[in-house]
Amino acid sequence: MKKKLIILAGIMAIMILVVFATAYYNNRNYKRVSNNEEKSISVVASFYPTYVLAINLTDGISDIEVDGLTDFSGGCLHDYQLTANDMRLLSNADVFIINGGGMEEYLANVIDSYPHLKIINLSEGITMLESQVHHGGDNPHVWLDPHLYMLQIENAREGLVNYIQERVNVNKDNTNNESDYNKEVIEQLNSNADAYLEEVAALADDMNIMLDRVEDLVQNKNISNKVVVFHDSFAYLSNKAGLEVAYTIEIDEDTPLSAGEVAEVVDVIRQENILYLFTEEQYDDTISDRIMDETEAQVYVIDSAVTGDGTKDSYLKAMRRNIETLKKAFVE
Ligand SMILES: [Zn+2]
Repeated sequence: MKKKLIILAGIMAIMILVVFATAYYNNRNYKRVSNNEEKSISVVASFYPTYVLAINLTDGISDIEVDGLTDFSGGCLHDYQLTANDMRLLSNADVFIINGGGMEEYLANVIDSYPHLKIINLSEGITMLESQVHHGGDNPHVWLDPHLYMLQIENAREGLVNYIQERVNVNKDNTNNESDYNKEVIEQLNSNADAYLEEVAALADDMNIMLDRVEDLVQNKNISNKVVVFHDSFAYLSNKAGLEVAYTIEIDEDTPLSAGEVAEVVDVIRQENILYLFTEEQYDDTISDRIMDETEAQVYVIDSAVTGDGTKDSYLKAMRRNIETLKKAFVE
């Protein structure tokens, strides 16, 4: 009798175990589906400006994850070489958002390595200024013109919405829940894009007012409209203000200018009576200090929005600071 009871208890214990194990397994499956792991989209942005744009568009969409390829202090991508970590990040990405115009010099390498990676080129259809450095070609710093930045936002919106719709078409066996979900994501993307465009449009208006003022003042005061810049990113603003870039100091963020190069810049500034020199925070102060000492030129710091604290309004804040800088240089 006792034996029978023990066997019965054993069978019951096994049954209980099976029930719990099944429940646990089902629960795990359920969790996997509800986490949308299959649906989540990994977006990589090539550098700080494309990162800031991407986090604005995808704000509040939990299943789109945005990573920046470079860190927030990385600056511009000129001559940037992809690291092993970058390649690892790209190998797991669904979408790669690039500035285009030659900023990502390594692009051909990425396309070769990851032919299925969706690439969104933010500068598609944008006519660029000609670069004054790097032996000509396109000047890729288009985001510094708020109107062109708005076109970049539109390109990003279109690229991301298309990507989500393409995925819906591939997975024909979508349930209703899934297509409703995708619709919601697209709606959120559109409303984020509209909200950001509205803020950038207001900035563009304020920037235009300032650039027009600078143009008037430079003409009426009959003073030199020539400027010297450290980086051809400023060309998109100076062009609209009727300023002439007399000299672009081709400078590397890591290696300082030689004594001979500094002397050459000082000569140009003296000969052409240049009063304005626009530098950027990421460059060494010693050269601009020397230029201020040895010439009549005043040095102003432009923020090309390639570094920042990683927050959503980073671009807007940088550009509003630039409006103030232009005001200080030409109006006050
Ligand atoms: Zn640059």
